[in-house]
Amino acid sequence: MTYTPPIRDQAFLLRDVLEIDRYANLPGFADASGEVLDQILEGAGQFAAEVLAPLNRTGDQQGCTWSPDHSVKTPDGFAAAYKQLVEGGWMALGADPAYGGQGLPHVVNMAFSEVMSGANMAFGMYPGLTHGAYSAIAVGGSDEQKQLYLPKLASGQWCGTMNLTEPHCGTDLGLIRTKATPNGDGTYAITGQKIWISGGEHDMAENIVHLVLARIEGAPGGTRGISLFIVPKFLPNEAGDPGARNGVFCAGLEEKMGIHGNATCVIQHEGAKGWLIGEENRGLQVMFVMMNQARIGVALQGIAQAEAAYQAAAAFAKERLQMRSLTGPKNPNGPADPIIVHPDVRRMLMDSRAIIEGGRAFMFWTGLHGDLSHASPEADVRQKGSDYMALLTPVLKGFLTDRGFKACSDAMQVHGGSGFTEHFPASQYLRDCRITMIYEGTNGIQALDLVGRKLAADGGRAAMTFFAEVDAFVDANEGDAQLALFTAPLAKAKAELQEATMWLMQNGLANPENAGAASSDYLQLFGLTGLAYMWALMAKAARAKIAAGDTDPFYTTKLTLGRYYMERILPETAAHLAKLKTGAATMMSLPVEAF
Ligand SMILES: Cc1cc2nc3c(=O)[nH]c(=O)nc-3n(C[C@H](O)[C@H](O)[C@H](O)COP(=O)(O)OP(=O)(O)OC[C@H]3O[C@@H](n4cnc5c(N)ncnc54)[C@H](O)[C@@H]3O)c2cc1C
Repeated sequence: MTYTPPIRDQAFLLRDVLEIDRYANLPGFADASGEVLDQILEGAGQFAAEVLAPLNRTGDQQGCTWSPDHSVKTPDGFAAAYKQLVEGGWMALGADPAYGGQGLPHVVNMAFSEVMSGANMAFGMYPGLTHGAYSAIAVGGSDEQKQLYLPKLASGQWCGTMNLTEPHCGTDLGLIRTKATPNGDGTYAITGQKIWISGGEHDMAENIVHLVLARIEGAPGGTRGISLFIVPKFLPNEAGDPGARNGVFCAGLEEKMGIHGNATCVIQHEGAKGWLIGEENRGLQVMFVMMNQARIGVALQGIAQAEAAYQAAAAFAKERLQMRSLTGPKNPNGPADPIIVHPDVRRMLMDSRAIIEGGRAFMFWTGLHGDLSHASPEADVRQKGSDYMALLTPVLKGFLTDRGFKACSDAMQVHGGSGFTEHFPASQYLRDCRITMIYEGTNGIQALDLVGRKLAADGGRAAMTFFAEVDAFVDANEGDAQLALFTAPLAKAKAELQEATMWLMQNGLANPENAGAASSDYLQLFGLTGLAYMWALMAKAARAKIAAGDTDPFYTTKLTLGRYYMERILPETAAHLAKLKTGAATMMSLPVEAF
């Protein structure tokens, strides 16, 4: 199983499309410009390809092992690779220098996260959740909590987890039963069971910091009575080092379809000592910081797995000989032609690649807005950045994991029967990728978040800003006949998205089930339009390079893939618009007994 990190494409996006050098005056950006950026991308790619990718299959085959003493052993090589990750400073790329981080823009860290997930998704989840725990404490923690935990989480010396789900509640966190009883000294005793906790126990770090949602005794029911606690596996001693064992244990591991190298734990809190983060009963607000970051991470997993699966499929398609080309033999000396000559095989490969490259661009473009939402000195740029992050997080998570899984399935299809066997990597990519559509809020819940909350926020400001930005781009390039291949379909998709938005405003408010019924199609329509904008931006950047005399075939390939996206994927917008406008009437008319 080989994996080639897509460094060339990442560099094109960061340098030529997003032009991050323009922001060199902002904190962190100066350290990621010019050659330094190349070195970071190359180093990250090398680590992913040489250290993590070789462990992907081992992780799948061995999985994690639980012992009755509540310990968990990760697959061979994981602990040593994690040590290298920490020692190489990779964990600290985007963390605040005040806590030992390197302070680089998150969009650069995103490039690293992508290759880590592409090389070994199960491994990448341990540092991914640690970053999330870091961010939640950074936003909601007290100064003392920040001083104690952030440097250790930033470096990766300690790992983090996210303890939300319980046996009877996943989506509906208002049902949480884990309880917190005040100890009288400012701390709480946490009691209850959490399930499916990723990285809940392992042998890679000296301590594990659980962020736990629980209900303080006497708190109101529902989501308004939930608080957030820090529950470390080992209680920090006065020096801040791991001390006595806390009452939080892994009671077992889940048997599951994929990501076998990641420990999915039943976590038992037995009067575990916990420290409140932020205010009582307002835990979900802080937890949302972690959840949103994790959703972006999951969107990246979708693209990363799709890239790895695509690479395997493209390599297979160049080698597997079956049948002759429709236009006569292309490999006349062989018994048959390689399957890459067949249009239907190309359809699958190019569908995948157009989604992967467009999706990567959408991730990085949004990630840059996330950076600007903190770093820009201009209030309107900051506001636009945070508006886009909020609006687009469910779109990225839902769209890119749905489409990432489809790409993994197409990669299996390109392999034919071989893909269904374990002799080839396609099966693992498909199995690993499937969870991305479920965890961190199912994709159905992302769609509801988009239409129910994000669209309406601040009078629809974020969506209107996005529409205006696309309009301005189309207008600014009106006279460019070559670019019209991209801007004309983009304008059409945007008009359909705007029509769908109007339909939702008129019909979703009148009957919320119309909004619920339309939500997934609306999310797809948004994702498709977002990627069309990305392909138009990439086409413009590629054409500028060609016009300047650059003969690298990378740019002509980019233009062909962009045209393919516009011709063969973007037309799906019309179907989504038509479907969503039928509303809820037919689907809700069927009585429950009829199912
Ligand atoms: C491998 C793995 C790792 C995980 N890691 C973690 C972790 O680290 N920490 C953690 O806390 N949790 C974790 N989870 C839990 C995960 O986040 C949940 O499984 C997920 O949020 C869905 O919750 P659920 O399984 O209870 O499904 P349910 O909430 O029971 O939903 C079932 C179905 O109903 C739909 N649905 C529910 N409500 C609505 C609604 N109002 N409208 C429309 N549709 C609805 C859902 O979309 C879904 O299709 C993990 C799960 C797995 C399998």
